[in-house]
Amino acid sequence: MVYQRPKGTADILPGESENWHYVEETARRVFKTYQFREIRTPIFESFDVFSRSVGDTSDIVTKEMYDFYDKGKRHVVLRPEGTAGIVRAYVENKLYGPEHPKPVKLFYMGPMFRYERPQSGRMREFHQIGVEALGSPSPTIDVETIAMALNLFKQLKLSGLKLVINTLGDQTTRQAYRQALIDFLEPHFAELSKDSQTRLHKNPLRVLDSKDKQDQEIVKAAPSILDYLDETSTQHFNQVKQLLDKLGIAYTIDPNMVRGLDYYNHTIFEIMSNSKAFGGHYMTVCAGGRYNGLVEEIGGPETPGIGFGIGLERLLLVMQADSILPPAAADLTAYIVGIGTEAQTTVVQLAQIIRGHGFTVEHDYLNRKPKAQFKTANRLNAQVVITIGTSELEAHTAHIKNMANGKEVSVPLTEIEQDFGAVLKKVRGESIG
Ligand code: ATP
Ligand code: MG
Repeated sequence: MVYQRPKGTADILPGESENWHYVEETARRVFKTYQFREIRTPIFESFDVFSRSVGDTSDIVTKEMYDFYDKGKRHVVLRPEGTAGIVRAYVENKLYGPEHPKPVKLFYMGPMFRYERPQSGRMREFHQIGVEALGSPSPTIDVETIAMALNLFKQLKLSGLKLVINTLGDQTTRQAYRQALIDFLEPHFAELSKDSQTRLHKNPLRVLDSKDKQDQEIVKAAPSILDYLDETSTQHFNQVKQLLDKLGIAYTIDPNMVRGLDYYNHTIFEIMSNSKAFGGHYMTVCAGGRYNGLVEEIGGPETPGIGFGIGLERLLLVMQADSILPPAAADLTAYIVGIGTEAQTTVVQLAQIIRGHGFTVEHDYLNRKPKAQFKTANRLNAQVVITIGTSELEAHTAHIKNMANGKEVSVPLTEIEQDFGAVLKKVRGESIG
């Protein structure tokens, strides 16, 4: 029997996991400057949480959900996205209460699951870093959310990015546009894909988002939602654009962009990369928008919201292709070489002591000859090599060599026990203050 990981999943091995940490830590640092705080919600939720919010004509709900009935016959789903669960938690934990200043600014990072055809940058288990700001209708939070994503990408040294925005307007706008779109699409009914035929009356906006080539040709001539914006929606969109201009953030407007989830309205946006990781084509690494009304849909009070999700796998593909991942840090302080089995106990004790002082230590676990141990110490790039041989065992000392400058000292074990940091300074030739 040969066991394999499930199709569309990946093992993230040491050597690569450090890259994930780098991105995650950078995101934590950037989000903190905007006062977004972490929320952790369950990996699985009730089916209804997603069918209600993501929309039951969306690709996600109709085709991509990992849903099943548990042993208690509850219909549950491995989360396909982050927003619905967070809104559920926001309502359930009453984060709308007066003790939580608005907007409530949240971020998350973790695995998402979609049953899709796996290809580069498209997995069945993938990871997102996302944010949600709940409780402000102001266009300033739309713009700050976009600016924060771009700031993160800047910190990560990404280049070749393009910000694309659009508006879906409010309820009134959507109603008017919906009808216009149906009127436009109906004469093309026979030429549309099966999916789009089904969606034409249920959710015509969805047709704009079709991945079918012929659908895409047809919708090129579709009416623009921008011609159907009502007063409020126009004002909101204008303010977003003006503020982006004031912050010096470049953008393009794509009036056909609708996004794959039903809950969006007003501002929607995507940040795309034309990295060679995607063969020079633009691929979306961050997508988001406003979702006023979603909180009510999930049973909470009227609460506007906006957020985005970043696909981590795609982001890392870009960073790899553009060679902007930091080199792996050599962070081994000490390698302890033990000569002969009689040194073993002292080596383990010494390692435990030095680690207790907060330094990284490695040693041999396979009774290998000193020569092999020294070789490993070199390969691991240890800052110092500590040797415990017969004479050290007798004298209760350790022999320490600074690999950077060749300086060698012999120090009593008690001194190491007291303050390994001071010993380290000594072998580095630094003055002890
Ligand atoms: P697409 O049109 O590429 O299918 P989407 O509209 O389904 O994207 P969202 O639901 O908005 O994507 O998710 C936000 C981001 O998460 C995407 O821009 C992408 O970077 C990432 N993402 C989405 N689905 C996957 C997947 N199956 N594998 C890897 N990353 C994904
Ligand atoms: Mg998708």
